[in-house]
Amino acid sequence: MDCIFCKIIAGEIPSSKVYEDDQILAFNDINPQTPVHILVIPKRHIRSMDEVTSENSAVVAHIFETIPKIAAKAGLTNGYRVISNCGDDACQSVKHLHFHIMGGRQLPENMG
Ligand code: AMP
Ligand code: ZN
Repeated sequence: MDCIFCKIIAGEIPSSKVYEDDQILAFNDINPQTPVHILVIPKRHIRSMDEVTSENSAVVAHIFETIPKIAAKAGLTNGYRVISNCGDDACQSVKHLHFHIMGGRQLPENMG
């Protein structure tokens, strides 16, 4: 499958990992938009939020349970933002479900 994040999971493309377990991987975004910009992905390929189902949502729950730990380890003691772009209107550029953890400075109120 021609998926850049699956290639990162397989170790075929290098990444700056910040957290990994049997279900998920977190790594620094290659083009950070904020001082801390981490991507959290399921190891199993899910195309986007639109493909989350009762059959695969446990990994999404696991991601959300783990995000506070990843954020704390990254020093985000004053808050952070979690974003998942889904589809063309949201400018989803990588078609493998991912959650952006963004912080390290005051973020703008406006998100769109
Ligand atoms: P999105 O626009 O929501 O699909 O976000 C995709 C994100 O993946 C962007 O912020 C990119 O900078 C990031 N990205 C693309 N390729 C890589 C890579 N090889 N390593 C780390 N981050 C990447
Ligand atoms: Zn993938």
